[in-house]
Amino acid sequence: MLEGIQSGANPTFWLAQGQFLFLFLHFLGIACFAYIVARRLVPLIRAERDPRFDRPLARLGTVLKFWLGQWKHPRYKTAGILHILFFAGFILLAARAFTVLIVGVSPNFVMPGLSGATGHLYEVATDYAATVVFLCMVFAIVRRSVFKPARYEVPAKFGKAHKADAIFLLALIAILMVADSLFEAAKAAGQVQPGQHAEFAAGLSLPWLLKVSLLSLPLPVVGGLCFAGYLIHELTFYFLLCYRPFGIQFHVETSLFNVYFSKLDRGKLKPVKWGVSDEHLDQVKSFGVKTFEDFTWKHMLDFYSCADCGRCSDNCPANAVGRPLSPRFISIKARDYAFQHYPVFGRSKNGTPLIGSIYSDDEVWSCTTCGACEEECPLLVEYIDKVVDLRRGMVDDGAVPQSLQKPLKALNSRGNPYGRMEKKKADWASAKDFRQICPVKTLDKKNGADTLYFVDSITSFDDRMQSIGRATARILDHVGENFGILGAAEKDSGHDVRRFGEETLFMALRDHNTDAIKASGVTRVVTSDPHAYNALKHDYKDVPPVEHISQVMAREVKSGKIQFRPAEDDTAVYTYHDPCYLGRHNQVYDDPRDVLDAIPGLKRVEMARSRDRSFCCGGGGLMLFYEPKEEQRIGVKRVQMAAEAGANVIVTACPFCMVNIEDAIKVAGLEGKMTAIDLAELVDQQIAREGTVVTKEAAEVPREFVAGR
Ligand code: SF4
Ligand code: SF4
Repeated sequence: MLEGIQSGANPTFWLAQGQFLFLFLHFLGIACFAYIVARRLVPLIRAERDPRFDRPLARLGTVLKFWLGQWKHPRYKTAGILHILFFAGFILLAARAFTVLIVGVSPNFVMPGLSGATGHLYEVATDYAATVVFLCMVFAIVRRSVFKPARYEVPAKFGKAHKADAIFLLALIAILMVADSLFEAAKAAGQVQPGQHAEFAAGLSLPWLLKVSLLSLPLPVVGGLCFAGYLIHELTFYFLLCYRPFGIQFHVETSLFNVYFSKLDRGKLKPVKWGVSDEHLDQVKSFGVKTFEDFTWKHMLDFYSCADCGRCSDNCPANAVGRPLSPRFISIKARDYAFQHYPVFGRSKNGTPLIGSIYSDDEVWSCTTCGACEEECPLLVEYIDKVVDLRRGMVDDGAVPQSLQKPLKALNSRGNPYGRMEKKKADWASAKDFRQICPVKTLDKKNGADTLYFVDSITSFDDRMQSIGRATARILDHVGENFGILGAAEKDSGHDVRRFGEETLFMALRDHNTDAIKASGVTRVVTSDPHAYNALKHDYKDVPPVEHISQVMAREVKSGKIQFRPAEDDTAVYTYHDPCYLGRHNQVYDDPRDVLDAIPGLKRVEMARSRDRSFCCGGGGLMLFYEPKEEQRIGVKRVQMAAEAGANVIVTACPFCMVNIEDAIKVAGLEGKMTAIDLAELVDQQIAREGTVVTKEAAEVPREFVAGR
């Protein structure tokens, strides 16, 4: 490159003259960046431990899929395509950016592997990449400032918007691309003028357009512009590098690490403290998260990595109905807190309680733990563990909402949230009429079985949901399953007790049930309750494999043991509502649909929000006892979605969904126009049995008791 330097008019002459200035700029920029990042790491070093250094291959796979492959971005078409384009542009430009930086101190530098034809091809590709990134930035600025997608708005209750910061940073990247292109264009234009071998600029790219417009300028001006382009590139590059850790664009630096260290076992809840076994929990002085420093280092990295894209909140059912929760602001408020309390310049101050300062108790109790936010986040930011940790902290301080105190007390004394007697647990199966068609044995030393039907509290005690229990038992009986129940020996699975932060109570319930299951001698467990399914699968240890009844039904439909009568009502249009703890948390999406589609003549439509984008019914478990501030019931929104899809029957596969959806049908004024049925109930009605047919009327029982409503 220096071969062409013959005078101060040559474009690269000034570059060669500025070597010491650029060396100084490199040193200053890197030193400032290292200092800022070191300061940003201070809270992470003081944070709770979090063992995320295992399974490097699986983590690498996650990086390839979610970071490099931008897997989740196309879920939002415009923003997703935009992000993929400029992300690909950045990746492509990385080697060029380093080459340009090094050229300032070593003008002949060529990146290894990028000389000759490969280098030429790379230059063409990067000319276009710089153009694409520049155009993407302009588009993003216009979009953020003029079209303003609703999800970028910041309601006053959640603090101030970071829009100006976002636009400023987008503009800086656009300037960086222009400076880079100007430098390349001036170099090429300067070489054309003296008739030397000119560097190529890809046709119609930004460097090409600039080169064409520079050709008519006097050589000294072109030389000056080359130097100016280089200097602006240097200054913008290092300014961006050092400014990004002060705002939302810090994710550019942290996202790779955030994705690498993301949670691999997504269904599992974080323990109270990593490294402390259940047996030693009584030695833990304080449970959960009360101050910022109680978060784990990974959760703090999440806060730094949130790109403020609003996708999580856009999919959050609590946010959709005006509850005081928007997951995006769980991150943004914590990051603002970290920046304020752990400043780059000045002393760190820690220890402020989070509830009452940046979070409200209602905000934390509003979460249904549906997982929609985590499913959507392109950077794999976690929320459920944080919410549960905040609840653990509140429970530890005795700050449990009034409406939850009674069910929690009942769970403690009776093992179910309704305070019902243990001996009544199997009453749903003991009605004379039912016993005659489907005897259900209670497992004990004399009565063994291969399979345990784990019923759980709501199906055992809620008069309406008992119908799901009876349908499940009849289906198991029909397919020839040797099964039984635990009866009085079964306590609540504790699934939602745990998610409400009552870890000690959960452990007591889990240990009791584990002992009872082991004593029963069964080799597998089946349940009709996705919450129990999730608990037995992820929260319990040392219990036999568990299946949801929809998985059993799908298998037996395929095996031919379950055959259906044709659907009779040709005016019925069915839609399947994915329960969060069956779908999103355990990826059981196809089995229930396969079962429905096997019923001859059944018309099924899909709601706009289904499968991994399913919209929570409003939350199960103890959520049924909690009345948050909201503008509308979550379930009402869901029922309206079903109506919009053209359905008049909502099929679900969870007793808690059934409570919320049936209530919502009434509240929405859709009684008589819309009904809800559990998949097990529908299958039980439609099974082609020899001799007997269980009609819809025979399966229904009066609904006298609905938990918590
Ligand atoms: S948590 Fe994820 S989805 Fe939510 S705003 Fe941040 S980056 Fe976007
Ligand atoms: S888990 Fe569901 S309710 Fe909770 S913050 Fe995420 S999307 Fe909202």
